[in-house]
Amino acid sequence: MSGDDIKAAAAELAAVLADMRAGVAFTGAGISTECGIPDFRSPGGLWSRNRPIDYQDFLASREMRAEAWRRRFALEPALGGAKPGRGHRALSTLAGEGRLRGIITQNIDGLHQASGVAEGQLVELHGNSTYATCLDCGTRYELDWVRARFEAGQGRAPDCAACAGPVKSATISFGQPMPAAAMARAAALSGACDVFLVLGSSLVVWPAAGFPVQAKRAGATLVILNREPTELDDLADLVIHADIGDVFEAAMAR
Ligand SMILES: [Zn+2]
Repeated sequence: MSGDDIKAAAAELAAVLADMRAGVAFTGAGISTECGIPDFRSPGGLWSRNRPIDYQDFLASREMRAEAWRRRFALEPALGGAKPGRGHRALSTLAGEGRLRGIITQNIDGLHQASGVAEGQLVELHGNSTYATCLDCGTRYELDWVRARFEAGQGRAPDCAACAGPVKSATISFGQPMPAAAMARAAALSGACDVFLVLGSSLVVWPAAGFPVQAKRAGATLVILNREPTELDDLADLVIHADIGDVFEAAMAR
């Protein structure tokens, strides 16, 4: 997209944002690419080369649990050092002004929290990879704790110190049930917003596509900002195929 096209798109987005009073944002991998976070699902992305470990395999095998932790630690240079991007910062500003009610995210990178968005305004559909929990008792563990145990045990996946249950990154794996509370909060937000902003999601992963449809049916203005066409472009009131950071930076400067 040329500079003039970015300006024109930013003007259209700014006009929607100016009238927004109770917006909801839905974010996917595209908002974090400028932060150096790999898009696991993209062609050539991590998951096309390294099939994700599904939940049943993680539970069934200590070796799979160790492999899951080896992979997670291998990602730490990218995930651990990442800083929020221009899209994250714009949403944080809008949330702080009270014009954005909530952010529903498919991302597991913790960058919305890092940009200053309160936990109460954030719904993480796929969990969070920046810490771990015991699957049996829910005790939270920081990654440093897991790594120290992992290394002390010569690569053995650590168990919960409280109940000896399996400790897993706090993400939702393939085959793992979607978190009911997060799904309910996302549905409640989607059904009661005036603007629904889809940012950096191709909307192909269920249940992602359901929320914009729900918002649109409830009367919201639907905006889709994504580099590539999405499944729901035909339904949207405003579609912008461009870089999220470029467009938001220009829109917020207006
Ligand atoms: Zn436990």
